[in-house]
Amino acid sequence: RSLAELDGIVTHCRACPRLVAWREEAARTKRRAYLADEYWARPIPGFGPADAALVIVGLAPAAHGANRTGRIFTGDPSGDLLYAALHELGLASQPHATWRDDGMELFGVRITDPVRCCPPENRPTRDERDTCRPWIAREFAYLRPTVRAVVALGGFAWEAVLPALAASGRTVPRPRPAFGHGARATLPAVDGGPPLELFGCYHVSPRNTYTGRLTPAMLRDLLAAGAGTAGL
Ligand code: SF4
Repeated sequence: RSLAELDGIVTHCRACPRLVAWREEAARTKRRAYLADEYWARPIPGFGPADAALVIVGLAPAAHGANRTGRIFTGDPSGDLLYAALHELGLASQPHATWRDDGMELFGVRITDPVRCCPPENRPTRDERDTCRPWIAREFAYLRPTVRAVVALGGFAWEAVLPALAASGRTVPRPRPAFGHGARATLPAVDGGPPLELFGCYHVSPRNTYTGRLTPAMLRDLLAAGAGTAGL
């Protein structure tokens, strides 16, 4: 199977009853601004080339963001900031992401989530995170020959990505490194592929950006560091 096939298969997953109900409920009730939209209301696959050198990991789709538009980080304030920063660095073809077929292209970068269905209050349970892990672990296994850097957006992503990388065949440091903005960890090369550098970055959520905890400049600098390590 290819990564593209995996991206197709995951959209049929119904393994988490609470999240299946929530994603479909959001599509039924809709937000007033989006009444005309036909919500995607399914799991959100990773987005970006199958030979990406840099992977950005978020948390989970937003009920009226990716769960509506059908593409990761597309159609919500978090994604607005992320795609603008990627475009500024020459890693995305457009500064604005609006819909799954808006023509956006990523260059050498893939964006993915450890939980692929929108959770109530943006909070997946531990069980839901663990149930979803095989999807991101398989994605990392496909990307192993090319990926050199991973940027984890937020503590949840950091905590989720280490076991996912381990499940994809990587050796992760012990004790597990702690998350922080600017935290870094090196995972050794496997199977002749490159070693991998993991970067921690505050999540691009409005809670962080509206309070100034994460500024556009901080995000850009962190993504630039990841891109530099990835050779982009
Ligand atoms: Fe499947 Fe993951 Fe969605 Fe759970 S969160 S239903 S495991 S895709």
